[in-house]
Amino acid sequence: MSNCIFCKIAGGEIPKEFLFEDDRVVAFKDLHPQAPVHILVIPREHYHSIKEAQDEALVGHMFTAAKKAAEKLAVTDYRLVINTGPQAGQSVFHLHLHLLGGRFMAWPPG
Ligand code: 5GP
Ligand code: ZN
Repeated sequence: MSNCIFCKIAGGEIPKEFLFEDDRVVAFKDLHPQAPVHILVIPREHYHSIKEAQDEALVGHMFTAAKKAAEKLAVTDYRLVINTGPQAGQSVFHLHLHLLGGRFMAWPPG
């Protein structure tokens, strides 16, 4: 999608250091980190949200990529989150998986 910021990042149009990348996903630091470690894992292909992503292998692959990014950053305890829809906090409508770590996290989330 031409006007999607995450498509531009995945496509290299906006330069970004990738902590992990392959033919299906890329992982990079969140612009406004909510924890000492805050990484986003996104598919290269555009999906509005997890609801539109029918490819189970791709969704699983996103989680595997997040695990690899966590290992690379030596973060052992972390939270993986997919905000889905505005009420749940989704603000960028290109599917993404948050990896948050490096601090204590309360449960349930606010
Ligand atoms: P959401 O609120 O949709 O679950 O998460 C979107 C995340 O994308 C937010 O944490 C926000 O800080 C991050 N974000 C928005 N625009 C950019 C950007 O241009 N670059 C990076 N690295 N992160 C972004
Ligand atoms: Zn996109």
